[in-house]
Parts: sequence; C-alpha cells; structure tokens
Amino acid sequence: MELACLDLEGVLIPEIWIDFAERTGIDELRATTRDIPDYDELMQQRLRLLREHGLGLNDIQAVIAGMKPLPGAVEFIDWLRERFQVVILSDTFYEFSQPLMRQLGFPTLFCHRLIADEQGMITEYHLRQKDPKRASVKAFHGLNFRVIAAGDSYNDTTMLSEADAGILFKAPENVIREFPQFPAVHEYDELREEFLRASVRELD
Ligand SMILES: [Mg+2]
Repeated sequence: MELACLDLEGVLIPEIWIDFAERTGIDELRATTRDIPDYDELMQQRLRLLREHGLGLNDIQAVIAGMKPLPGAVEFIDWLRERFQVVILSDTFYEFSQPLMRQLGFPTLFCHRLIADEQGMITEYHLRQKDPKRASVKAFHGLNFRVIAAGDSYNDTTMLSEADAGILFKAPENVIREFPQFPAVHEYDELREEFLRASVRELD
C-alpha cells in the first residue's frame, strides 16, 4: 500500500501568514522563522499582533476565506486521491487552514491547534509533537505503508528523508542546492510524473 504525504503551504496553498499580512496590511505579521529563528518567540509575537489589532479567530478565518489554493492545486489533489491515499502533513493550525481546506475538499490533515478564549481571541498554540512530519512518516511505515512525500521547504526535509521517495516541489534554489538527493520540480504536471515514477504500482 502506498501513501502520498504532502506539505500544505507553498505546495497546495499560499503561505498563510504572508498572504494574511498582505490582506490585513499588518506588515509585522510577515515575519517568519528566517527573521525570528525561535519559533515560540515568533508565535508569541504573531498572537500579540493579532490581539493588538483586535483580530479574533472569526475575523482571521474571514480573511483566510478570501484566499485561494494555488492555481492547479485542486485538480492535482483530485488526481492524486484517485491513485493514492493522501495525507497532508503541515505545520499550520487547523483553525487557520479550514477555509482553504474546504476549497480542497477537506483531505486528511495532520497539523497543530490554536486555543481561543470566549471572545474568540487566540491565547495559545499547541504543537502536536516534535518533528511531526518525520514522526508521521515513521508511524505510517509502522502501519506497513510505503510513503511518497512532497514538500517545498526546510521543515519538509526530514519528512522527505524518512519517506521511501521524497520530492521537492516549488522549492527555493537554496533548498534545492542543499538537498540534491531529491528530484525538484515546479509544475503540477511534473509533480504527477514524479509521483508516478516513485510509485511501485502500475498507475496512469
Ligand atoms: Mg511549505
């Protein structure tokens, strides 16, 4: 049995925090782990900014509902689900991703959670576990699945290494250079080809 594991942001949908910063005009929300390497510090800053701008979960979801999956993503995931069991492994939060997951037909998603108070303001975040993408692939192996994985960034590389086959999709040049062991493609048609090549079954 074969599983397809996909990253979400940068692969099927835009980077949520960056798109959100653009839509709300809150420039400081553009910060990523490249600017603030400590993830907890980064998240605390994001939650503080949301509070300062009076943005509760409902407001945030309303903004995110205006976002669209990347062009071709819906067709790609439909194609993939006919041929593989698909699981999306992401470092986003269920509460953020929901409007976009609806547009993707709610495929299975393993990610993290946000906690809100009675007013709907986000008070904290819960990471499901450490190195969750790699841990998930390991667990799937324990269930006797062969795993083909695709992602675009550093936080995907342990998942790609752990998988039976790993593919870089729409990855930046520095990631492609640092991880030459993975095929790197940029269009969904090429990604389909890579999945077919990596599969040990007869597919079309
Ligand atoms: Mg990504």
